Amino acid sequence: MIISYSPQCPEQQVATASQASAHDVAEAADHARRAQRSWAGTPAEQRASVLSSVADAVATASAELTDLVVTEVGKPCAEAAGEVQRTIALLRYYAQQALDPVGSVHEPTGPGLLYTRRRPLGLAGLITPWNFPLAIPVWKLAPALAFGNAALLKPAPQAIGCAMRMSELFAARLPDPALLQLLPGGAATGSAVVEHADAVSFTGSDAVGRTVVRNAATAGRRVQAEMGGQNPAIVLPDTDPIAVASMITGAALTFAGQKCTATRRVIAVGDPRELRDALIAAVTELPWGDPADPATVAGPVIDARACDIMSRAIDEARHAGGRILVGGHRAESDGHFFSPTLVDGLPPEHPLTRREVFGPLLLLQHAASLDEAMTLANQTPFGLVASIHTNDLSAALEAADHLEAGQIRVNAPTTGAAVHTPFGGMKGSSYGEREQGKAAQHFYTSVHTVAVRGLRAPGTAQQRMLSSERDHDT
Ligand code: NAD
Repeated sequence: MIISYSPQCPEQQVATASQASAHDVAEAADHARRAQRSWAGTPAEQRASVLSSVADAVATASAELTDLVVTEVGKPCAEAAGEVQRTIALLRYYAQQALDPVGSVHEPTGPGLLYTRRRPLGLAGLITPWNFPLAIPVWKLAPALAFGNAALLKPAPQAIGCAMRMSELFAARLPDPALLQLLPGGAATGSAVVEHADAVSFTGSDAVGRTVVRNAATAGRRVQAEMGGQNPAIVLPDTDPIAVASMITGAALTFAGQKCTATRRVIAVGDPRELRDALIAAVTELPWGDPADPATVAGPVIDARACDIMSRAIDEARHAGGRILVGGHRAESDGHFFSPTLVDGLPPEHPLTRREVFGPLLLLQHAASLDEAMTLANQTPFGLVASIHTNDLSAALEAADHLEAGQIRVNAPTTGAAVHTPFGGMKGSSYGEREQGKAAQHFYTSVHTVAVRGLRAPGTAQQRMLSSERDHDT
């Protein structure tokens, strides 16, 4: 049985579901494939209208969905409401994208017509994390369905309630509910999804992502994986330290730092004292606690294991000579609360500056120059997001050219992404094609080149023969 518990109130069960076995996944894949055949032939306008009606349904249910996100994953309510709005925006965006061109016409090599056309791949296997329990499933599901596929959705067990509710909203509006198969479970269910899908889209930790990529590649499946980050924010001395500290503290610690795009390190260029004082003030004043309180910006971490990971990271930092400037402890509470934490003085090559700790931990590093700051910023196996804060346009552009990250933000928080732009990272943060924006159409379709020979070809017999030989060259 899959059971989710509220992180702020761990005794409270939020949702339960039966675990899907490998056999269940095989059966679900069968049903979905059968339903997909007629969905692929449904006019794009009709697919668009289904997604629009799911968007309307999410909008109608937005208060209920917001409460569910707050209760199930402890996301502060203002952010949970924002996630619901983003989910609606994603559905409306992909409803329109269903009507995008699906190919192009090329100059033929002889008389006739030469064109490319994108067709649905078939069955998309979607494996999702708990931290955006509505938006991430939808940013995979919506394009998969928009372009004529069926889907197997394997959500994170910690967010099964959100996935069940979202699936109900889809199922009631799809012409055949079998097009979306919700498969509750853990690693074994996820592995079975990889085995049965034509394309696998994964979001989650790098350790699991690497396994999923390996298994999918071995089975010959198309695969994309969006994984973790160790995202740096470089701060030059020409900025207002109080404003920058406030922006970075928000990017690092809202939702208790449980975003792949959260800032994990601030790299202060030059004299760090003013920025350090401003960060200490901002982190100290950050409202944290009950996620249902509209004033809260950092709630609990997801579970007891996440609390332990934070405690171990703090011990490691202390042992390595790091100074805990703010926080560094669990709260006296039944919930999984850990105080927003700021650490200074770790050796530049300490493992904590390189790996992802998925919780409310922000490290402060120091650099003498922009070059040194960029070297520090890039010293991680990840490359999801990086930000630079400066009034110097040349410095900003240089950083945009050299920071090893898929998303580069200038005077903007590392968190946040537009629904219509490609999202993903470099190095260990991502594998395969980008998600979202126009990139989604490529992932969920296959391209076919069609050559139509004109029956009444003009020209001499010799010209017709030559053009036919050119066709056969490859
Ligand atoms: P996770 O890797 O533990 O789990 C992700 C999903 O994979 C879950 O559904 C899980 O049940 C499933 N899974 C586990 N083992 C599997 C296996 N062997 N085969 C197939 N599926 C398997 O991640 P999580 O704790 O749910 O989420 C947090 C992580 O997600 C963080 O590392 C965060 O950075 C990352 N994340 C990345 C992005 C991004 O877009 N880059 C966005 C959100 C979260």
